[in-house]
Amino acid sequence: MAADFTLPQLDSRVLSTLNADGTRRWMQPRDARGKYWRARLSVAIALIAVFTALPWIRISGKPAIFLDVMTRHFTFFGTTFRSTETLLLAILMITVFVSIFLITALFGRAWCGWGCPQTVYLEFVYRPIERLFLGTGSMRGTGGAPLWRRIAMYAAFLVISAHLANTFLAYFVGTDRMMEWTLGQPANHPVAFALFAGTVALMLFDFVFFREQLCTIVCPYGRMQSVLLDRNSLVVAYDRLRGEPRARVAERKKRETSAQKVGDCIECTMCVQVCPTGIDIRDGLQLECIHCAQCIDACDQVMTRIGKAPGLIRYSSQNRIEGTPNSSFRYRLLLYPALLLLLVGTLTVLIARHEQVLIEQERTVGSNFTLGADGSVETPIRLLIENRTDAARSFTVHGIADVAIVGELPSIQVAPSSAASIAFSVRTTSASFGRGSRHGSVLIRDDLGVTQAEILSIAGPFNATGSMTTGDWP
Ligand code: SF4
Ligand code: SF4
Repeated sequence: MAADFTLPQLDSRVLSTLNADGTRRWMQPRDARGKYWRARLSVAIALIAVFTALPWIRISGKPAIFLDVMTRHFTFFGTTFRSTETLLLAILMITVFVSIFLITALFGRAWCGWGCPQTVYLEFVYRPIERLFLGTGSMRGTGGAPLWRRIAMYAAFLVISAHLANTFLAYFVGTDRMMEWTLGQPANHPVAFALFAGTVALMLFDFVFFREQLCTIVCPYGRMQSVLLDRNSLVVAYDRLRGEPRARVAERKKRETSAQKVGDCIECTMCVQVCPTGIDIRDGLQLECIHCAQCIDACDQVMTRIGKAPGLIRYSSQNRIEGTPNSSFRYRLLLYPALLLLLVGTLTVLIARHEQVLIEQERTVGSNFTLGADGSVETPIRLLIENRTDAARSFTVHGIADVAIVGELPSIQVAPSSAASIAFSVRTTSASFGRGSRHGSVLIRDDLGVTQAEILSIAGPFNATGSMTTGDWP
């Protein structure tokens, strides 16, 4: 016999994006054009311009940002790093994280509401297009709009998503290859076309269907707010002391004449209707709040209309909104900047010393050295030369002091952004050896006249008399 099973009835929503029965709650937030909206619009235009332009801008002949995952070369503003430069890349990543921690401690989720591409493109590109085609009144929601409007809207979404996918991929494949793919036939670049089509599909999925759920369900940054914020951090907050008890306009007069206290909130719910994540800020600070300040703009307009001072919802801290002054001392505001200073200092030194040519001695195969009758020692040497520049370079090896090159000076040409090995022998004297090895230097000079000294480990006899004719690698 089948068990009788009914879903528990909940008093409130589990997620702001779900209805009580578990179906998707589609957000169609109203427009609220106030001072914060105008400021965010300016920031959004600037960010979209920068994001679109960065792969095209050249610094020292290189793209401003190029994350070439195929060759694992990462270019930032004229400097290219390899994936092997793990220390540098690790410090760079930690610097980014600590900066985010500091910004969050100071300004709350300013990044989410003002700078995140998800918010910028959704609120200032996709949502306005939707409002343009579907309107903001009774037609809101695709159900009420004529078919041609819906088709035109999805066509516009497709064009925008294709452009966005092109820009996004340009960061990873470069603008030259991107242009080649775009101007070529898809049949000539099937893999590239599949990559492009997949990226467009992802953009459409995110900005047309998934939307605010990326912020409320997926994004790990949102999940970390409880540890990144404290009671002194800047947040969007409702002034409960001023707003409560709430009273609709119709009730206010009655309550006021009977000398009952009424707060400034008139229960118009405009702050909820404009919220892109569907929450009610009057319930307090919530994980879903991306600090976009839409509710501030909406409430300020309401307050102005009813003749009250704006700021019932405002940027403040949890302390200040509850009437407690902000703490003047916060450990995290000492710790994060100190850590950031250390990281940026280390990063600056590492980048300043970032070598254009990397030379390493490799292990040789076969006999480690040959002892001559005159007491000279000839040792084969092998060097790996990595040319990290964007032009082919020629290198010639010269001996220094008592380390002489056997035969002609060895030279090699190394292609841009690649490495090659060069083999040669050095001549020393057995008298300079002890314990089977010694150190000595050679000079590597390139065609631009740049000279670099390389310290070698040179294999030789175990003592000055040259009692051994072959030895082990030290
Ligand atoms: S917009 Fe302002 S007045 Fe209206 S419900 Fe929200 S807090 Fe109250
Ligand atoms: S509560 Fe206000 S600030 Fe937070 S997401 Fe909603 S509209 Fe934006």
